[in-house]
Amino acid sequence: MKRPFLTLAQAQEIKKTYPTPFHIYEEKGIRATARALNAAFGWNPGFKEYFAVKATPTPGILKILKQEGCGVDCSSLTELMMAQRCGFSGHEIMFSSNETPAEEFRLADELGAIINLDDVTHVDFLYQTLGHVPETICCRYNPGGTFTLGESKEGFQVMDNPGQAKYGMTRAQLTQAYTRLKQLGAKRFGLHAFLASNTISNDYYPALARILFATAVELSRETGCPITFINLSGGVGVPYRPDQSANDIAVIGEGVRQAYQDILVPAGMGDVAIFTELGRFLLAPNGHLVTTAVHEKHIYKEYIGVDACAAHLMRPAIYGAYHHITVLGKEDAPCDQVYDVVGSLCENSDKFAIDRPLPRIDRGDILVIHDTGAHGFSMGYNYNGKLRSSELLLREDGSVELLRRAETPEDYFATLVW
Ligand SMILES: *Cc1c(COP(=O)(O)O)cnc(C)c1O
Repeated sequence: MKRPFLTLAQAQEIKKTYPTPFHIYEEKGIRATARALNAAFGWNPGFKEYFAVKATPTPGILKILKQEGCGVDCSSLTELMMAQRCGFSGHEIMFSSNETPAEEFRLADELGAIINLDDVTHVDFLYQTLGHVPETICCRYNPGGTFTLGESKEGFQVMDNPGQAKYGMTRAQLTQAYTRLKQLGAKRFGLHAFLASNTISNDYYPALARILFATAVELSRETGCPITFINLSGGVGVPYRPDQSANDIAVIGEGVRQAYQDILVPAGMGDVAIFTELGRFLLAPNGHLVTTAVHEKHIYKEYIGVDACAAHLMRPAIYGAYHHITVLGKEDAPCDQVYDVVGSLCENSDKFAIDRPLPRIDRGDILVIHDTGAHGFSMGYNYNGKLRSSELLLREDGSVELLRRAETPEDYFATLVW
């Protein structure tokens, strides 16, 4: 059973100052999740989480994570600029991009970020762009094929398709890239891979770690390049559906430790640092999209129209993603109605829920859409001239802080030439 971190009374109070729709994040939950992650990997002295900025590119959130010892993983110019303005520098910044423009490599290098190269051809592109290669550098691996875990009668617990993904280098290209980087002056090397997204399994990171650790041992022997860190990237998922159970980060950390003991330590590589780039796991459950029911419509189906739309949360429209919905004040009421909960875009995919059993919803009811703290606001867009919402922080003392104001029509028109 999913419970919101916000009560009806709190939401009503907030709404007086910040009209719905708004995204709100819970400071307590964010800090607790970051601490659990750091504790799970406490056995590794060099461990560092580089929060994937694209999940929640909001300074008020990045600063909380910085206080918890996290760095940031950036993938674009503006993400790098935001990281810099939030006070991240040097090796607190990972730059994992692809099809990277030269100016982005330039800024990443100026900031002293760790650059994670997506392709073997980027080695010379980087060298030509900068006139040197950084002493610390990372390469992204794509082992191809399919990646599966936990086969059962129902299918695979985790299944993804690296062979169809545009990211990373082949195994042979890794050797070429390391060799060339060493020639050009690189001194410390990292290895990175992202093989499956939103995994609901305590086995994903340990399985990925085994692949990367074994590859790192081979690469170090083949090329003589000192490998100083291994980046497990993102992909640890969250239970969007109420019948799914959450990953246990302590179990995940222990699984990676086992792999480390089995593979790296015997190879004399017991000083390698482990990095992660989690976005969803850290933030998704710690954010809600709060919206008000403004219309009801009875045609061939029952519709509830809300003041948020896919421009504020795109995942249901583009992936058919499930996001749980709670009607505030009706947390324990029977779900004896079946609704499509829809936004106002002129686009029929603009549905937060389809055929969803919910309590009876009246106009004016406030709905919480769960697990929107990552890849929620940040995927927003302006279709139909819809304006982006505000972002708020529910602080540990119960007060509410504005992290980003809602857009106004002036913002929307600001780039136009009339
Ligand atoms: C998107 C992304 C992440 C974060 O993914 P989550 O699913 O939010 O954990 C991490 N690293 C890279 C390179 C990414 O592109």
